[in-house]
Amino acid sequence: AAESILRRQASRESAARTYARSLPIVPVRARGMTIEGADGRRYLDCLAGAGTLALGHNHPVALEAIRAVLDSEAPLHVLDLATPVKDAFTTALFETLPPALAERGRIQFCGPAGTDAVEAAVKLVRTATGRSGLLAFCGAYHGMTAGALAASGAAAARAAVAEPGAGVTRLPYPYEYRCPFGTGGERGAELSARWTQSLLDDPGAGVHPFAGMIVEPVQGEGGVIPAPDGWLRTMRRITEERGIPLVVDEVQTGVGRTGAFWAVQHSGIVPDVMVLSKAIGGSLPLAVIVYRDELDVWRPGAHAGTFRGNQLAMAAGSATLRFVCENRLDQRAASLGTRMLSRLRALAAHHPCIGEARGRGLMIGVEIVDADAERDDYGALPAAPRIATAVQREALRRGLIVELGGRHGSVVRLLPPLTITDEQAEAVLDRLTDAIAAAER
Ligand code: PMP
Repeated sequence: AAESILRRQASRESAARTYARSLPIVPVRARGMTIEGADGRRYLDCLAGAGTLALGHNHPVALEAIRAVLDSEAPLHVLDLATPVKDAFTTALFETLPPALAERGRIQFCGPAGTDAVEAAVKLVRTATGRSGLLAFCGAYHGMTAGALAASGAAAARAAVAEPGAGVTRLPYPYEYRCPFGTGGERGAELSARWTQSLLDDPGAGVHPFAGMIVEPVQGEGGVIPAPDGWLRTMRRITEERGIPLVVDEVQTGVGRTGAFWAVQHSGIVPDVMVLSKAIGGSLPLAVIVYRDELDVWRPGAHAGTFRGNQLAMAAGSATLRFVCENRLDQRAASLGTRMLSRLRALAAHHPCIGEARGRGLMIGVEIVDADAERDDYGALPAAPRIATAVQREALRRGLIVELGGRHGSVVRLLPPLTITDEQAEAVLDRLTDAIAAAER
């Protein structure tokens, strides 16, 4: 049956399908971080809905919250009306936000996906400032609808739809391994900040007046690249001084993933707008923006959408937010992430195809490089997407699901559920080690 399902879907689904093509699995059951295929094989899922499944698959707490709504006969679709379920979700969410944002914050429910919330954020800052330009970063990923795509770094994806990026100025992101300024560390981050500053202040640069800056605290799809805290603080200062709203996209980094409940808490910055999705819906579709109330100049109806009040997602989401808080899963992500990363860094000494292992909390990336090539002037080796693809394939053969990312598709990404046990983490690293050794051969 699995074979014919795979064949039928392969013949009917769009050519745009991505990672599913390289994962010939028909999942029929899942619990925690384990997925079981129709053929009875079991896999450790380190993709976990691209970071969506903070508590893993079918966590009892999320399931119970969903069942409670179903059993209560509460309406499942009420557009934008207030309900007890929505009230509980908003309250749970606001309790987690940086206090400066929670105290005077507004929430806009945006529709099912992260990209919907990015669209809303961009519209909001454009409306509030009356300006159109947007500052975004090379390597960024904000989604696939026109506005979100415009802000993303994927040039090929933008070009394919006749460049929706008018008005977007792209700045270098502090990517230490391949630092655009030829130097990593704090110095590279400082130079990147100075570039931004000089661009904004140069009357001859010909840039649009900026409605906002949008940034990921850790680039996810871009290759798991954490921005240094000092750099983020500088971005906050630069935008604040010039009256440019700062939009932080925490779609992937939120809900404990990076070792703090929200990634902005590492640097202590308070964004003007936060974009939230993925884990906030407890595995169901939910996306919101929260923002400073001064920006709330929208007229009723300025941003609408039929599917932005998903009651089941809000119920699963509140339960998930509370569970992560009560069980300090953010701290767990920080300590386990540090241990996993140090094992991966040690591994790099034995496997020359590991250019760099990096990450924050349980958002980990291993950049795969061509060890036979020559290093560039700054010590980096060229990306090796073919070896990375082989690592992914070999990992799957060993019962481990990982995803690739990065500018060249050469970064192996690990986004396990925050509920991963020590034993599972060991198993993930054992299998990945074997997969890297096999791919290198
Ligand atoms: N922003 C970031 C940082 C993301 O990682 C993603 C998805 N990977 C999105 C936005 C878009 O979310 P969605 O796929 O739900 O539209």
